[in-house]
Amino acid sequence: MDALETAVVIVGGGVAGRAAGLFTARNGLETIVLDDGSSLLRRNAHLENYPGLPGGINARVLLERMTEQAADAGCQFETATVDALERTADGFLATTAAGERYQAENAIVATKNEVGYLDSLAGVEIVDRGKSFVATDGRGRTAVDGLYAAGRLAGKPHQTIVAAGHGSEVAITLLEDREEPFYHDWVAPAGYFTGRGRDMPPGCEEIDKTTRLEREHEGRQRRQQLLEAQLSPPPEQHPSVEQ
Ligand SMILES: Cc1cc2nc3c(=O)[nH]c(=O)nc-3n(C[C@H](O)[C@H](O)[C@H](O)COP(=O)(O)OP(=O)(O)OC[C@H]3O[C@@H](n4cnc5c(N)ncnc54)[C@H](O)[C@@H]3O)c2cc1C
Repeated sequence: MDALETAVVIVGGGVAGRAAGLFTARNGLETIVLDDGSSLLRRNAHLENYPGLPGGINARVLLERMTEQAADAGCQFETATVDALERTADGFLATTAAGERYQAENAIVATKNEVGYLDSLAGVEIVDRGKSFVATDGRGRTAVDGLYAAGRLAGKPHQTIVAAGHGSEVAITLLEDREEPFYHDWVAPAGYFTGRGRDMPPGCEEIDKTTRLEREHEGRQRRQQLLEAQLSPPPEQHPSVEQ
């Protein structure tokens, strides 16, 4: 079977992987997230410390919101377990347990402490501290050129907001390393740049009042629909706890 080609493959679409996919896709890079559906956040009983959500949120609902937001930007999600990630002449080849193959120019791995699929990838440095982590520099770059690690797998503190922030940072690092036209991913009021005689920086957008109010309205409606559609999906228990 021919490999499906993409710019970026993200192995592990929990918190960090979804956030990374949002940022690469928003910058126009074709992005595929391969995830086998067992984010640790699914086990949370009530997420109370994600900034901006006073009173907390059902963690499954937050994950669903993150998926929808990234998909809006063009990020593609596939339910799959990746068995192997290998280096190729053109980048990386991810092979799933079902035998599907994804060829990508860049790869971001965000699989909490799962590293078995990296066995055949020469050069990647695995750190064993009771659990396995991938060694990175301060921005998520691994020892393998073009391969990045994000979230818990990169040894970041075990908090949702940290994993989300790190996934975003790693995606932006990848954009910078690829020398993609990128300044910041910002939405600014009309005239913010152009009103000062500046060109619109790449990655930025100016919107007028009408567009701003339309987008606010759509955002409110979509949040409401998600809550109504999902009400309160229950947490998943630790596999070793007897039900
Ligand atoms: C019981 C519990 C309660 C928690 N409560 C809170 C809380 O209240 N507040 C808070 O801030 N944080 C909480 N956390 C922590 C939070 O869930 C994690 O810090 C966060 O999920 C880490 O994000 P991540 O993306 O690094 O990993 P994850 O979200 O775990 O994502 C990793 C993803 O990789 C996928 N994956 C792994 N191997 C493969 C493979 N070979 N192929 C394809 N996909 C693969 C998994 O399916 C998973 O979706 C809690 C965690 C637990 C367990």
